[in-house]
Amino acid sequence: MGQIKSEEKVIGIPRAMSFYNNYPFYYGFFTDLGIKIVLSDITTKQTMSAGAGLVVTETCLPIKVYIGHILNLLSKGVDKIFVPSLQSIDHKIYNCSKIRGLPDLVRNVVKQPFTMIEATLDKSEKNQGLYEFLAEAVKPFGITDKALIKKASKAGWRCYNNFHVMSKSGMPYAKALSYALQGKVVISAKNKEYPIAVALVGHGYNIYDERVCMKIFDKLEKMDVKVCTTLQLSEEQLCEGISSLGNDKYWANEDEMTGTAGHFMKDNKIDGVITITAFGCGPDSLMIERITRRAKQFNKPLLNLTIDEQTGEAGFVTRLEAFVDMLFRKKRASIVNNISMSQVDSVYSPNIEYIETK
Ligand code: SF4
Repeated sequence: MGQIKSEEKVIGIPRAMSFYNNYPFYYGFFTDLGIKIVLSDITTKQTMSAGAGLVVTETCLPIKVYIGHILNLLSKGVDKIFVPSLQSIDHKIYNCSKIRGLPDLVRNVVKQPFTMIEATLDKSEKNQGLYEFLAEAVKPFGITDKALIKKASKAGWRCYNNFHVMSKSGMPYAKALSYALQGKVVISAKNKEYPIAVALVGHGYNIYDERVCMKIFDKLEKMDVKVCTTLQLSEEQLCEGISSLGNDKYWANEDEMTGTAGHFMKDNKIDGVITITAFGCGPDSLMIERITRRAKQFNKPLLNLTIDEQTGEAGFVTRLEAFVDMLFRKKRASIVNNISMSQVDSVYSPNIEYIETK
């Protein structure tokens, strides 16, 4: 990174947690206000172990990774870091306590001096909606003009919506993000045919961080498997997915888990469901329980993968390969079954000459 000039308005954003869902918005918003963004580097083994070294062992992997990214930003000389407290994203729709208390958690474990920009979003409370959240985020830069903040918010939504349009068309995450940040919308007409399709269910920070999920998208692509995620679904499909699992939305990341699983489980074009969850995640353990029960009812093959910083790649790949093998075998068996059934249908015609009529 180049030297940060003292007169520059610079905000550090950790490449972790809400980055994976909200960065197109943050990018459009902050850059419209002339605030330069410095991102932490991509996650490495070193990021994970640096973060893990500062928190108690039981803490979930995404939080350890997040702390590692804060340390990375500090090592780059960034002194204002965005650490939002995302309490509830809609009326009575809450995040887990770790996400809600993220600024306090960071303050307690990172002992280096820096300014934490800890804006709070709490849509279950009055006067703590998106506008107030954004105003809090830019106040440390001396920006208080309401009209400017609203205009920047529109720029944020533009970038966010562009990203979603491309993702929905099936474009890979990194590519859609890159185009959206360049202000482009590119829709590819070419769609490769795959023999097998799976739904990958997990929080954005667990499935799009390549180090955390051990490049699962690349691995499945090499196995000739199409991967579908939350990003290909509309708000209505996600809501209907949650209710098809027999419950109301309570957790903020319910869309990514029960909504996605519930939707794809009813989709005949999806051959199986893979979930990725962090070891020790309370909300996920409840949601996975419901998904597993439903998968049995729908007779949909399901693979639950749990990750932490000790997860070895070899074991991860073995489980993935075994699952994909089983999906291929199941598909072949159903094709063979259909062929023989159709042959039986076409040759079967009772020969009445042989029927004894006496
Ligand atoms: S939802 Fe689960 S994985 Fe995410 S921060 Fe909370 S406990 Fe960790």
